[in-house]
Amino acid sequence: MKETNCIFCKIANGEIPSKTLYEDDNFRIILDLGPATKGHALILPKEHYANLFELPEETAGEAMKVAKKMADKMMKRLGCEGLNVVQNNGEMAGQTVFHFHMHLIPRYRTDGQSIGWKPQEVSQEELGKIYEQICQ
Ligand code: 5GP
Ligand code: ZN
Repeated sequence: MKETNCIFCKIANGEIPSKTLYEDDNFRIILDLGPATKGHALILPKEHYANLFELPEETAGEAMKVAKKMADKMMKRLGCEGLNVVQNNGEMAGQTVFHFHMHLIPRYRTDGQSIGWKPQEVSQEELGKIYEQICQ
């Protein structure tokens, strides 16, 4: 299914032009228009899924395969020294376009970006409770 008002549906299906790095029957990989670093790319499924929770398992597996292939190529061609794979779900997690996508962000020593979090302290007791909440 495509969503008529979704910009990534239009880009993924070629209705809006983009700098396409890769395309197959199910995915398009494009350059991000507001890049964190040189070569920042987005992996878009051609079908509309708002987020990871809506994504079928098979598509999720395929997305990781194309991510790996493109990440390998970027490491070779761009001369980056690392690469972040980022995927945001929900406004609270920083998602701004509600069509599932994965970010490939090449990293360079001097790129001035910091993609991460501030580690918090947690006790063994708290870890146990969290484990129970998730798994039991
Ligand atoms: P999110 O915050 O949802 O994880 O990421 C959305 C990403 O899409 C941002 O990095 C933003 O720069 C990018 N973006 C938004 N609109 C467009 C567009 O029209 N074309 C391209 N190529 N990237 C876009
Ligand atoms: Zn869409």
